Amino acid sequence: MTLGYFVPTEEDILKVKFLKEFEGYLWSFPRADHLSVGICARMGQATSQELRRHLDAFVVEEKIPTAGAQLYSHVLPSPQAKTIRGRRIVGRNWAMAGDAAATVDPITGEGLYYALRSGDLLAQALAAGVPEEYPEKLRAAFSADLEFAANIAKKVFRGNFVGGAITTRMVQLLNYSPAFRDLVRDVFSGSQNYRTLKRRLWNQLGITIAEFAHSLLDPRRIAVGATPASENESSQ
Ligand SMILES: Cc1cc2nc3c(=O)[nH]c(=O)nc-3n(C[C@H](O)[C@H](O)[C@H](O)COP(=O)(O)OP(=O)(O)OC[C@H]3O[C@@H](n4cnc5c(N)ncnc54)[C@H](O)[C@@H]3O)c2cc1C
Repeated sequence: MTLGYFVPTEEDILKVKFLKEFEGYLWSFPRADHLSVGICARMGQATSQELRRHLDAFVVEEKIPTAGAQLYSHVLPSPQAKTIRGRRIVGRNWAMAGDAAATVDPITGEGLYYALRSGDLLAQALAAGVPEEYPEKLRAAFSADLEFAANIAKKVFRGNFVGGAITTRMVQLLNYSPAFRDLVRDVFSGSQNYRTLKRRLWNQLGITIAEFAHSLLDPRRIAVGATPASENESSQ
C-alpha cells in the first residue's frame, strides 16, 4: 500500500527513511517540478491511518511545505514467493507481463524494469512461435531472483546485524563505505541479483570494514563534529 503527496516545491536531496519493525519505507524523491513524498508498507500490517500518521510526521521532520500538496494512494504489488513461483502467466491466446505477472521486486517495490523486460521476453517468445517457453525464460532472466527476494524481504526490514537493525546498519555503511554504496547501487539498478548478493557482501567485507573504520577516524569528520545519520534510532 502506498500513500503520498505530490508537493509543489523543489529540492536536490533524495531521502529514504526506515522505521523500526516496519516492512516498508518513507521517501522524498525530487522530480522535475515537484517532490514525490510517500510511504509504502505491506497491506494488512499497517492501517492507512497509521501510514498517514508516519507520513505527516516525516513531512514535519523534514520541513516539507505541504501547502498545495496533492494526496494520492495506490496499491503496489508486492508478490509473495509462492505467487511469483506459481502464477500462471500464459495460456491459449493470452499472456501476462509486468505487475499482472507478479514481476515486482518485493523488497524495493520496483516494477518498471521488470514490466518492460517481461514484455520484451514475451514478444521474443511470440515472435519465435513458442509462447509456452515464456515462463521459463522469465524465470531464468529474473523471476527466480524475485522469488528469492520475497523470501528474505522480512529479514531485510525486521532483522538485526551486529546489535542493530539491518536497515540502520545499511544506512551507516552507505554513509561511510564507497564499496558498499556501489553494491547497493547495483542492487537498485538491477545489475546485482539477490542470489549472489551474499557472496559479494562476504567478498568485499574486508574493504567495507576498512573504509568504514577509515572514515570514522577521519580527522576532518571529527573536526566538523559529524555524527552518523542513523545514530538516532531511525535511519535515513
Ligand atoms: C505510486 C507508485 C510508485 C511507483 N514507483 C516506482 C518506482 O519508482 N520505480 C519502479 O520501478 N516502479 C515503481 N512502481 C511500480 C511500477 O509503476 C509498476 O510495477 C509498473 O508500472 C507495472 O507496469 P505494468 O505495465 O505491468 O502495469 P501498469 O503500469 O499499471 O499499466 C497497466 C495499464 O493497463 C491499463 N488498464 C487496466 N485495466 C484495463 C482494461 N480493462 N482495459 C484497458 N486498459 C486497462 C491501466 O490504465 C494501465 O495504463 C510504482 C508504483 C506506484 C503505484
